[in-house]
Amino acid sequence: SSLLDDECDYLFKTVLIGDSAVGKSNLLSRFARDEFHIDSKPTIGVEFAYRNVKIGDKIAKTQIWDTAGQERFRAITSSYYRGALGAMLIYDITRKGTFENLKKWLHELREYGNRYMVIVLVGNKSDLVNSREVEAEDGRSLAQQEDLCFMETSAKENLNVEDAFVQMITKVFEIAS
Ligand code: GDP
Ligand code: MG
Repeated sequence: SSLLDDECDYLFKTVLIGDSAVGKSNLLSRFARDEFHIDSKPTIGVEFAYRNVKIGDKIAKTQIWDTAGQERFRAITSSYYRGALGAMLIYDITRKGTFENLKKWLHELREYGNRYMVIVLVGNKSDLVNSREVEAEDGRSLAQQEDLCFMETSAKENLNVEDAFVQMITKVFEIAS
């Protein structure tokens, strides 16, 4: 296919979604470039980044889309979801409201997204133990209910970030290959 380039066996699109300031852009910059930004601004940031992941003897290249601040205005369009085979749905464990809004995001994902889309639920900012408002158990049980994978991460401390992305990418790979 024309999507394939020389260095990879598979190329596919995945998207990041969730409320503003949950850490989407920092999870992406951590995974793609091993960078964290303490004062990242919602309007700053690339629209997407690429990373290769080795799965067995194959190389999967993933194009990961970031909302670039559009989530503020509920202006994410269907083109954002179009063709995406995986989604990382992110909330902030220190802000319960971002967890409560997950239903809305799931609704949108299921309305616009591919029916086989792999969804990984991610509770970010696990380093902020003293400000926790959402228990890991609540994330886990929602994930079970909705048939999603689940993980808590810290983009800041680089905890589980690689695992969360690789889990999503591996599952997409299993479906797409
Ligand atoms: P986005 O709006 O979802 O893209 O969120 P950003 O990636 O811009 O992050 C919003 C704010 O949360 C920034 O000030 C980040 O530095 C901070 N942040 C992101 N991830 C973490 C994390 O894992 N731990 C902590 N303590 N702060 C984080
Ligand atoms: Mg952002």
